[in-house]
Amino acid sequence: MNNIVTVRRCKGYDLEEVYIHISDIYNTCNGPDLKNKKVLVKPNILLDDVPEKCISTHPVVVEAMIRFLQSNGATVFVGDSPSIHFRGFKPNRSGIAKVLEMTGVPWIDFSRKPMDMELKNGNIRIASITRDVDLIFSLPKFKNHELVYFTGAIKNTLGLVPGFSKAKQHALHQNRESFSRFLIDLNEAITPHFFLMDGIMGMEGSGPGQGTPFAAGVLIGSVNPVALDIVASTIAGYNPRDLPTNRIALSRGIWLHSYDELNYDGPDLRSVTKPDFKRIHVTPNTNISLKFLKNRFQFLRKLERRPVFNHDACTGCRECIKICPQNAINMDPVRQNYVLLSDRKCIRCFCCSEVCNHNAVAIKRKLIGV
Ligand code: SF4
Ligand code: SF4
Repeated sequence: MNNIVTVRRCKGYDLEEVYIHISDIYNTCNGPDLKNKKVLVKPNILLDDVPEKCISTHPVVVEAMIRFLQSNGATVFVGDSPSIHFRGFKPNRSGIAKVLEMTGVPWIDFSRKPMDMELKNGNIRIASITRDVDLIFSLPKFKNHELVYFTGAIKNTLGLVPGFSKAKQHALHQNRESFSRFLIDLNEAITPHFFLMDGIMGMEGSGPGQGTPFAAGVLIGSVNPVALDIVASTIAGYNPRDLPTNRIALSRGIWLHSYDELNYDGPDLRSVTKPDFKRIHVTPNTNISLKFLKNRFQFLRKLERRPVFNHDACTGCRECIKICPQNAINMDPVRQNYVLLSDRKCIRCFCCSEVCNHNAVAIKRKLIGV
C-alpha cells in the first residue's frame, strides 16, 4: 500500500469537474487496476436526508465515482448501512437512489444475510457483498464526529456493518479510546481499497448528524486510510495527533509508521486548511483519576458534554430510544413527546443525536436537569 494523499480544490458539485478531479486524484494515488473488476462503492449515508444538509456523501460525487469506474471497465455496486436501517431501505432523499437509476447500478441491502468476520477481539457481522467483490471504494464525508472528533476514512468503514450491530459496538466499547481501537481493528480486518473524501461541502459543529454545512472546497483521495485521515483532519484545523484513530493506527504501524512517511500531492496544505472550521473540543481521555472520580461522584458526569433533549422539537418518533445501546432513554409516560434520559446509564456514544432527524438532541454541557 502506498502513502500518497492527493488533494484537489473543488468549489461546487459540477459533475464534469468532479469527474475530472476524481480521474486526476485516482491516477496520482496509483489506485488499483479496474478492468473487469467488481467494485462496491460505499458512500457515507448516516441518515437519508437532502444533500444540502451535508449529512451524506453528495450524489454528484457518487455519480462521478460510478461513471469513472464504469468507464474504466468495472462493474459497480453501491450500498451502505445508515444509522436507522430498515429492510428495503433506499437512499431516496439523499439523491443517491436517483443516481443509481441513471447509471444502472444496483443498490445492495447490507442487512440481507450478513456474514461473520473475525476481529482481533471477537467476531462481527458484516455485509456479505464484501466477499463477492474484488474492490471496495469508500466515500467518506468531511465531517465532525462528537465521539471520535472527525469522521473520515477509518470511521466510514463502520457502515459495512449492518443495522443495529453498529450501535451495539458502542455498548462493547464504551469510551473514545476503546471505540477507536475497535474501529482500527475493523479496518485491519477489512481495508477498503480506495478512499475519496467529499470535502466540497462538509459539516462543522455537532457532527456527524446535527452540525451545519461548511464549504471546505476540497476532494481528498488515497488508498491509505490513516494517511487520508491525517491530511483531512489537518485541513479541518485539528492537530491530527489528537485524533485517537490516527494515534492508534500509527502506533500499530499498519498503514503508516510516522507522519514523515506521508506523501502529499496538492496545493500548499496551509492554503486549504480551515482554521475557522468549528471543531469538537478535544478533551484528554486518559486521565485515570478523573475517570475514577466521575464514576464515584455522578454529579461530576454533568461536567461532560452529553445529550440534551429539546422537548419542543421532539416529534416522538422514538428513533433515539430504538438505537440507544444502553437503554438510557425512555418516553415520559405522562408528557407527550417528552424524552427522558437516565444519565447514570448513558455512555456518551451520541448515537441518539446521530439518528434524530428533528434537531431535538443537542450535545452540550448542562449542569441541571436531564
Ligand atoms: S428526540 Fe429526536 S429521535 Fe428522539 S423521539 Fe424525539 S424526535 Fe425522535
Ligand atoms: S442516551 Fe444517547 S449518548 Fe447516551 S448511551 Fe444512549 S444513545 Fe448513547
